[in-house]
Amino acid sequence: AEVLILRERNPGECRVAATPETVRRLLARGLTLQVEQSAGLAAGYADHEFETAGARLVAPGPDLGAGVDAVLCVNPPAAEVLDQLRPGTLLAGLLSPYGAIALVEQLQSRRVSALALELLPRISRAQSMDVLSSQANIAGYKAVLLASAALDRYVPMLMTAAGTIQPARALILGAGVAGLQALATARRLGAVVYVSDVRPAAKEQVESLGGRFISPPEQEERPAEAGGYAKAASEAFLAAQRQQLADQLALADMVICTAQVPGRRAPMLISDEMLAGMRPGSVVVDLAVAQGGNCAGTVCGQTVERHGVRLIGGDGLPSSVANHASALYARNLAALVEHVLGEDGFQLDQEDPIVAGCLFTHDGACRFPDLVSGAN
Ligand code: NAD
Repeated sequence: AEVLILRERNPGECRVAATPETVRRLLARGLTLQVEQSAGLAAGYADHEFETAGARLVAPGPDLGAGVDAVLCVNPPAAEVLDQLRPGTLLAGLLSPYGAIALVEQLQSRRVSALALELLPRISRAQSMDVLSSQANIAGYKAVLLASAALDRYVPMLMTAAGTIQPARALILGAGVAGLQALATARRLGAVVYVSDVRPAAKEQVESLGGRFISPPEQEERPAEAGGYAKAASEAFLAAQRQQLADQLALADMVICTAQVPGRRAPMLISDEMLAGMRPGSVVVDLAVAQGGNCAGTVCGQTVERHGVRLIGGDGLPSSVANHASALYARNLAALVEHVLGEDGFQLDQEDPIVAGCLFTHDGACRFPDLVSGAN
């Protein structure tokens, strides 16, 4: 079977869905690989490295995608590329399935079998394919570096001839994959770290990484959990949580916001009034900014100042660590491709929980219409 690796077309996207390493790995499984020219350039993987690994370079143009059996991408491919795919072609990538009405129409009419990696179940068997985790990990790490660089203070405690400097205090909202990596990174830099999450199970993980857990507010109604994910909290719960966080914010030097609820607007946890209570010179990095943000006033991809606090809209951070982000993404994708590769080409067994979980469109139909219409 023939697999095509696309060059990403979204502005600012530097990642690529395969590396020379995964090209070799997939070739060894009997696949043939086409790589679009310059696909890996922005991530530090040159065309000749893909060729040396055994891929065939293909030029962009009207025929791109024609006749291939599978397409691997980071973001959804351009409409012109999807138009070239023959029925039954496998497509795998981060397809932003929530509300993706136009994309779904096209995938259905082309009868593409699309695997949306956002929907991959978070089960042990799928861990090697879990791009949400590999990329969130990078975002959490980079968020702390950005905050530290923008901060007007040292992060570690220092004892100098000029006296002692106290360690910076970090507050992390959300103890998922990004939040836990932010915690670990801030600890390595020497910060004292506080972490808030609505899932009580997060306490043990936070403490095992040397963080101090801020328990969710004592409310009768606590947001439910499903499959390890938080469900949307009520406005009353969020109000109680904001009240609880106000004192913490006043003491924080850096705040890393990672709180999210899949398919929903991110919970608003820091109001403008709460920002006014923070120390001028402190920094907030909002990784939830593309989902509406955890902090008032953050702007996607920009740094703005509010009440003397620097607000960094941390969108697309994995792409800013493009070489390693691609290396991990490509391995996740290679594991998924190997998983669905049968004796005779690709086989999508809908009884398999991994395929059942993330097979978004198949045979001209969308398998998760509620998620697209926003009714979930
Ligand atoms: P996510 O990006 O959806 O959310 C980040 C965090 O925000 C979550 O921990 C969530 O509980 C928290 N959150 C939501 N509302 C909040 C609020 N109002 N205040 C504070 N925090 C709030 O989560 P994720 O990083 O994708 O991880 C989701 C879960 O999946 C976690 O339990 C994680 O450990 C688990 N996981 C399992 C596997 C696996 O078993 N293969 C792999 C990865 C992650």
